[in-house]
Amino acid sequence: MRKIFLLIVVVVLLFAGVFRIRRSPRPVVELRPVITAVGQTTPVSVRVLAPSGVRKASAVIEQNGARYQVWDLAQPSTVADNTWNFNVGVSTTPQLKDGKARLIVEATSNQWPHKEAQWEGDVTVVTRPPTVSVDSDQHYLYLGMADLVTFDVSGTYEQAGVRVGDQTFRAWPMPDGKPGMFSLFAYAWNTPGGTAPLVYASFGGGSQVTSPMVYQFPKKEQPKYTVHDLQLDDHFIQKVLGELDPMGTGDPVARFVKINNEMRKANNKTLSDLRFKTAEKFLWTEPFLRQSGAKAEATFADTRNYIYQGKKIDQQVHLGYDLAVTQHVGVQASNDGKVIWAAPLGIYGNCIVVDHGYGLQTIYGHLSRIDVHEGDMVKRGQVMGLSGMTGMAGGDHIHFSMQLDGVQIDPKEWWDPHWIKDHIEKRVEVGGSAK
Ligand SMILES: [Zn+2]
Repeated sequence: MRKIFLLIVVVVLLFAGVFRIRRSPRPVVELRPVITAVGQTTPVSVRVLAPSGVRKASAVIEQNGARYQVWDLAQPSTVADNTWNFNVGVSTTPQLKDGKARLIVEATSNQWPHKEAQWEGDVTVVTRPPTVSVDSDQHYLYLGMADLVTFDVSGTYEQAGVRVGDQTFRAWPMPDGKPGMFSLFAYAWNTPGGTAPLVYASFGGGSQVTSPMVYQFPKKEQPKYTVHDLQLDDHFIQKVLGELDPMGTGDPVARFVKINNEMRKANNKTLSDLRFKTAEKFLWTEPFLRQSGAKAEATFADTRNYIYQGKKIDQQVHLGYDLAVTQHVGVQASNDGKVIWAAPLGIYGNCIVVDHGYGLQTIYGHLSRIDVHEGDMVKRGQVMGLSGMTGMAGGDHIHFSMQLDGVQIDPKEWWDPHWIKDHIEKRVEVGGSAK
């Protein structure tokens, strides 16, 4: 009896041991980076994690019901962390056609019972690079300003638009259903000298084709940006800290400088990210309005030296207009659009952002009251709230600025009906009827 009991214990322990081995983990397969397009010869880097090594691994591409093997591991590996590089593409798999396909990478672990894992993803096959043809217009550029370019892309591509230095501006189909595309793009106030704007089309793996546009910079004189000294006193610093850093401790001037840098940067990032909340159509038909009866106390891209007790403690560039009328004046929507932000935003205080379509947006800061909600449609001239001095403002005014695909630009061209006619309406149809 005792012997039988011992035998049972041994058998149970043996099984437990076997089961522990059986719980060998499934391998992990990842692509670094993830491939979304396959061209002539596209490098793929696969990482497979499996504690006991990898018995076999392979990759296939599936397209239109056919399955092509594109890689096979030459010999098993006993290493836990493996990275293998291979090429896929039309040069080695000539059966691939332009269009959608699926890339599948499979791996099986060494240890019994062999566990399988796979990575799967959609890819676009591009048998030959797309071609880009750009309009032959002269594009007159000024720092801080915008323009519009039309172009065609033929062939298969992933993304297209305009690249200015490290900034990209999206391309949109022509609004009237005509063939071709257009991009609204900014030549940002701080664009390095000699930067040529390029129309581009990307087709995966970091590959892209670009085409220059005919441009002149500047046609007339580049508007001069000014430099101002802004005197800070304790009263203003305390006002800003009380509102934007009420729980903070330490040197007030250091805290102010921190807000002026870090919070400004974070707030500008929030504004820039609103580029993705845009309508794929023109929401406006008439030129943009400049707040009626307002005096400009500051203009676009002015450099401000912040002076405290005779010492310069900071410097920032002011990317908007400070428009003053009277205290608590009604803040007018600059044009028809959709409210995409209506809430406090750090240094901008109570802030409204209105989207006008195709990445073009207007920003209204320092309000004492907001009377619209996110999602509201507004009309040109409609009062959306009252001016004030919330955020980093020393007196009652509206901070008005404009951004194009997340890049802040000088609104003054958009206030000018002639400029809109020559640069926008000449090239695309605004508001459904040709002008
Ligand atoms: Zn301002």
